[in-house]
Amino acid sequence: KPVRQRKPDWIRVKAPMGKGFEETRKLMREHKLNTVCEEAACPNIGECWTKKHATVMILGDVCTRACAFCNVKTGMPLKVDPLEPQHTADAAAKLGLEHIVITSVDRDDLPDGGASQFVKVIEALRRTTPDTTIEILTPDFRNKADAAVEAIVTARPDVYNHNLETVPRLYPNIRPGARYYASLRLLEQVKRLDPSIFTKSGIMLGLSEQRLEVHQVMDDMRSADIDFLTMGQYLQPTPKHVKVDEFIKPQAFDAYASIARAKGFLLVASSPLTRSSYHAGDDFAKLRQA
Ligand code: SF4
Ligand code: SF4
Repeated sequence: KPVRQRKPDWIRVKAPMGKGFEETRKLMREHKLNTVCEEAACPNIGECWTKKHATVMILGDVCTRACAFCNVKTGMPLKVDPLEPQHTADAAAKLGLEHIVITSVDRDDLPDGGASQFVKVIEALRRTTPDTTIEILTPDFRNKADAAVEAIVTARPDVYNHNLETVPRLYPNIRPGARYYASLRLLEQVKRLDPSIFTKSGIMLGLSEQRLEVHQVMDDMRSADIDFLTMGQYLQPTPKHVKVDEFIKPQAFDAYASIARAKGFLLVASSPLTRSSYHAGDDFAKLRQA
């Protein structure tokens, strides 16, 4: 295989443009917020930011882990910013967001894994912009998961997302710091503690997973009562990251989506450029109106 694979035609990325894009960038800078849109080098940034959709990444821009697919920096993380919750809420209010997605780096160094910062962000958002629906995308909190999940569920986000990222066979290479069944258990726990919170998870395709393995992941997710599923093409952010094994065709994404719907997921997003937070607000709003 060539060192740098050519992307197929269906991976078309719109260039950043327009007033909305600039306004989003300016607002994030002014409020000293990091976004996963930038840190993960998301291919949808042009489209999303133009529409003023951004995913805020709390707890700094340095992660304590080093997943083989992820562009976020690894190292000694920074101190937690006590102003971050209110800054996040202010930015959401100024962007006029109907739905906000909040994620974070992994903070295995913090006694609570960063759960209390998620809680503070949810509380600040509820105070400042009460009509905005809140989706959080959390790490697995490793051995602190029980307490972390309980604290966050008590703050009542609308959607609790945690990505399984790939099939269990590939964990040692792709997500070495995590355990597949621990991630499933985390989502099951959210649902058990508060069934009114929607749970969500996602995987990347194109990492050499087999079709039946993907079907098994869907079954595992449904067994854990996970409501929403996202599937997108893995793209190699830099040559240092794990290579793309295969570019999955759009028709194959559609076929997976049909199977996922048949298995009972309430929302399914499956396309080459689908990301965890891509169109998350639009899809959630449609579901609430239905
Ligand atoms: Fe940001 Fe998500 Fe859009 Fe990517 S898909 S640009 S991470 S909001
Ligand atoms: Fe990236 Fe999350 Fe892995 Fe950290 S834990 S390296 S932010 S995917």
